[in-house]
Amino acid sequence: MKRIVALLLVAALAAVSACQEVEEGSVGGPEIALSAGGAVAVAPLAVTHGGVGSPPDWSPQCQEAADTALATILATGDALEGAVSGTVIMEDIPIFNAGTGANIRLDGKTIQMDAALMTSDGEFAAVAVIERVRNPIRVARAVLDTPHRMLAGDGATRFAHAMGFADVVPVCPEAEAKFRKRWQQVLEGKAGGGYDTFDWRRAWNFPGPPPDAPATVPENAGPETGDTVGTVTRGGDGTFAVTLSTGGTSITLDGRVGDVPIYGCGSYAGPYGAVACTGHGEEIIRQMLARTVYNLMASGMSTQNAVTEAVASFPPEWSVGVIAVGRDGWGVAANMQMAYGVAGGE
Ligand code: ASP
Repeated sequence: MKRIVALLLVAALAAVSACQEVEEGSVGGPEIALSAGGAVAVAPLAVTHGGVGSPPDWSPQCQEAADTALATILATGDALEGAVSGTVIMEDIPIFNAGTGANIRLDGKTIQMDAALMTSDGEFAAVAVIERVRNPIRVARAVLDTPHRMLAGDGATRFAHAMGFADVVPVCPEAEAKFRKRWQQVLEGKAGGGYDTFDWRRAWNFPGPPPDAPATVPENAGPETGDTVGTVTRGGDGTFAVTLSTGGTSITLDGRVGDVPIYGCGSYAGPYGAVACTGHGEEIIRQMLARTVYNLMASGMSTQNAVTEAVASFPPEWSVGVIAVGRDGWGVAANMQMAYGVAGGE
């Protein structure tokens, strides 16, 4: 297999192959390029992201996921199975806000996750506010084999267990540390994202009361935005697929659903390519962002220009990142640093 593109860190930019075009950004401490892309025609290709806001030292894990996705495509010939395998790798790594590392909601206990997939022949499946599973994207893949498009809440959780997925609460020290830090910010009215003015005490909808203030607040508890994971793939036959998985934003009420499982918003795939988004889900929904990027690609814009233009047009007060693969190659863009991986060959 001839490797055409590889992991991109700014530290590695000097070594990128001639077919890549990389533009360094200027927002948010650009250790990672804020816009990147490459021309890779007619060959299997996989791109992953670790969520907008994810730091450069998470890039090796994103690269591992991209390599796994590519290896799966080469072994199975199936772009969707490749995209599922890439996202499973990141769901199993606790630094990411998905699966094992999924965010804990405001009560300090509840973990509710969303995941979705789509293929270029129009197949779509999703789970929303699912609990007690290790790999929500695998459950979304199982939903694809039912007559339905989406399962949500308790029904999604019970479906997962009925299908043989282990009943586990995906809690880990990384997510607990992040919760303590964010809960302290909420109590101090410094949480952002609308929670400084929103009367969350009145809207409290968890079964138990709000938790006490944390006894200790970690200095460094990971990024406060993003870290949702996504994988976009192109098969050797020119088909496309996308998978996305998230624990949602770090401050949410019980039952909150973001962009990830909503058709055309967090992800989209069609004959021109596949798109995965990350960032402030409420705004991504308003922009129907994945479908918007896809439409740019379908109108003839290059994949890199499509993701870059979509990010530039996004309201700058909200974090956003987009990855895509198209007929011409791949593109990555974000308005904050975002770890990602790229693997492709022929
Ligand atoms: N878009 C995700 C959500 O709103 C979170 C993220 O990607 O940061 O659930």
